[in-house]
Amino acid sequence: WQFDNSYGRLKDIFYTRLSPVAVRAPEMVIFNESLAGELGLDFTSYDDPELAQIFAGNVLPDGADPIAQAYAGHQFGHPNVLGDGRAILLGEQVSPNGKRFDIQLKGSGQTPYSRNGDGRAALGPMLREFIISEAMAALGIKTTRSLAVIATGEPVFREGALTGAVLTRIADSHLRVGTFEYAAMRRDQVGLQQLLNYSIDRHYPEIKEADNLALSFVEQVMDRQIDLICQWMRVGFIHGVMNTDNMTISGETIDYGPCAFMEAYDPATVFSSIDHRGRYAFGNQPPIAQWNLARLSETLLPLIDEDADTALEKAEEIVMGFMPKFEQAYLKMMGQKIGITASQEGDAELIANLQNLLLKHKLDYTNAFRALSKSKPLEEAIFAGVRQEQEMQDWFARWQVRLDQDELDTQESLTLRVSQNPAFIPRNQLVEEALEAAENSGQMTRFNKLLDVVTKPYKDNPQLQDFQSPMQSGHHFQTFCGT
Ligand code: AMP
Ligand code: MG
Repeated sequence: WQFDNSYGRLKDIFYTRLSPVAVRAPEMVIFNESLAGELGLDFTSYDDPELAQIFAGNVLPDGADPIAQAYAGHQFGHPNVLGDGRAILLGEQVSPNGKRFDIQLKGSGQTPYSRNGDGRAALGPMLREFIISEAMAALGIKTTRSLAVIATGEPVFREGALTGAVLTRIADSHLRVGTFEYAAMRRDQVGLQQLLNYSIDRHYPEIKEADNLALSFVEQVMDRQIDLICQWMRVGFIHGVMNTDNMTISGETIDYGPCAFMEAYDPATVFSSIDHRGRYAFGNQPPIAQWNLARLSETLLPLIDEDADTALEKAEEIVMGFMPKFEQAYLKMMGQKIGITASQEGDAELIANLQNLLLKHKLDYTNAFRALSKSKPLEEAIFAGVRQEQEMQDWFARWQVRLDQDELDTQESLTLRVSQNPAFIPRNQLVEEALEAAENSGQMTRFNKLLDVVTKPYKDNPQLQDFQSPMQSGHHFQTFCGT
């Protein structure tokens, strides 16, 4: 371990120092050796029981400085004081190439921020976070990672008794929009300034010399969030609970509670059982990101300008720039999915027309775009049922004309599409089945197989067609926070 615990050197309002609560009988469920390698950690001389002790929180690694982080957040629009209610940051591991990673145990027992929670996590949701976060990383999307899942040997009580588990989460940092909200709520301007400087040092050193640090910071965080949301939409990812405490400053995807992947294309898709109004629906993710960034900018007003009105004006100007920037980035991303670059008049319409066709025919988002990544897309199974439709034929004809005009040649365009349109995503039903096997009978075979498939998402493999089938239509899939 090479720990340097810089977060713990901030003002003590930002955390509480405490150790994970030991568990009864830790047992290794899964360990991500390649990720350990990236972190510069070599555990070859440890056996599983020793690793289980460490990653359950029973044995602290040398140099760890365990803390629970304080934060606030808007949950479904309502402000709340939160904090790590079931997580402990062990410290920041500095990898051999100098990169800094938070090592956090999730499900590690109660903290002063637990409110009425038990501080624990169940095996199913922790394995779910493991597989989906690793799939996201393999899809090329910025995300927290999963190093290990350890069963605790203790039950947790939710709708019934479940197997308890601890997940080791790795992140560029756990700084959230909600961390800023926390400092602002306390009206602690010294703390706020310190947090801003710290965040810039850690994630945006390139703006250190900016005239208006706070303003440049909001702009930078916004750019990363625009990029992130575009990437989510590229692969049909629905985060499900984009509360401000679940939005990172680093631009990583965080908090894999009720997330899921859209199958049949529909921007109104919602999976979370508690999201009754579709606040966090697939197509609503951009305006929600903007809303969250507005909350971030509000926390920084006193640092943006001494004069309150001027500060507000400057912040608004930045945040109002979200949609035009997003639309440009989105158009570029969607263009790449259909194999075109640069943008031409009419591209947005071409893309929207395709989306309307997918919506109308309830086509699977992933499979449809993957089919477009083949040299004869219309011959692919996904389009078989609708290939005779005049509208569909017209679209393909217009697309062909646009492809011919593009600066990319046929092969380059195909290569681009293959790199942007995954063949494999963690499909909801398959994930559920793998988790059930793991939870009910301790069987990890299915989970491991699915993990293997979804971590090579762009590689065709005709033997894996079973992993490409969407859920039966008519089945309404729901996700739960699992807390
Ligand atoms: P989340 O919905 O996972 O973003 O969590 C929202 C807040 O609830 C955070 O402050 C969590 O730490 C806290 N929380 C979630 N589950 C538990 C639990 N089982 N025990 C204590 N706190 C929890
Ligand atoms: Mg959270």
